[in-house]
Amino acid sequence: MIDFRSDTVTKPSKAMLDAMFSAPVGDDVFGEDPTINELQEYTADLFGMEAALYCSSGTQTNQIAINVHTSPGGEVITHVESHVYKYEGGGIARNSGVSVRLLDGNRGRISVDQILPWMNNPDDVHFPLTQLISLEDTANRGGGAIYDFNEIKKIRAFCIDHVLPLHLDGARIMNAMVENGVDLKDYGSQFDSISLCLSKGLGAPVGSLLIGKKDFIKKAHRVRKVFGGGMRQAGIIAAGGLYALKNNVERLKEDHANAKALEGAFNEMDWVDHVLGVETNIVVVVLKNGELRDQIIAKFNQKGMTPMPFGPGMIRFVTHLDISASDIDQTIGVIRSLVL
Ligand SMILES: *Cc1c(COP(=O)(O)O)cnc(C)c1O
Repeated sequence: MIDFRSDTVTKPSKAMLDAMFSAPVGDDVFGEDPTINELQEYTADLFGMEAALYCSSGTQTNQIAINVHTSPGGEVITHVESHVYKYEGGGIARNSGVSVRLLDGNRGRISVDQILPWMNNPDDVHFPLTQLISLEDTANRGGGAIYDFNEIKKIRAFCIDHVLPLHLDGARIMNAMVENGVDLKDYGSQFDSISLCLSKGLGAPVGSLLIGKKDFIKKAHRVRKVFGGGMRQAGIIAAGGLYALKNNVERLKEDHANAKALEGAFNEMDWVDHVLGVETNIVVVVLKNGELRDQIIAKFNQKGMTPMPFGPGMIRFVTHLDISASDIDQTIGVIRSLVL
């Protein structure tokens, strides 16, 4: 099977498992797990930030960040298709009691010009207090689109003017960083908090990191406990994440090249309307006849390939470290031979 459903389906390699087996561990609720401590310091350093917190999932890191940055009755500005809003089970309302101002922007990204009119006047009691802006890079619903760093800097300047924190859902931030040529520390300096997933393209089995300033992480630590996310000898799984960050970042470019190759093949097909321009490891195919979507997916399934439906008339293929260049050649053969 060639599993294109998501980059979350990867299995730990032998070398990663070896690192996990031999990891020194301790009770992380007491802050005594050396592997977790190393992972947290390593990741904070990468982005030039002060501290980091190892958590069970990207949903947990995002929800903790939102909880720390806001108070009940406040408002978060984010993209209408952002993961924090669309795919976290209503967690913003449920966990933190805050409302959302949802903006529609190009391929999952928002611009400072769009944010401006929705910054509520804090002196007018009619309006919820705008308390947080949350961005996503790469943007999943945008087909793995990368933010323009200049736009991020403009949003950051806006946030500083309005004393607003800026959060990044960077579940796939390393996919962006190997392509955009931006220095990681420059990038980190734009945000008050960053959530980074180890279990997506980086290929670790479990875990995400929340990165920020020391006082922010201190508060996040408390919220993680409240959300039931305090883990004990979790260095066993954190070691997989550390291995992933040290070994699997540069190779993300291979996934991107594989995704590009798929894009090229799809663009030759007369049943394809267009592909959302591939920038990283996500290929979103928009069909000419949307009604054929499930039939096309079924044909791929018969060949042992598993793309996902991605909304009306759209199919998503995600490349990752368990998909090789020869798997891609095989898939391109199937794309070219499909009879509809
Ligand atoms: C996967 C993902 C997350 C976090 O998902 P978990 O499954 O909770 O780890 C957050 N944001 C984006 C954009 C994602 O793709």
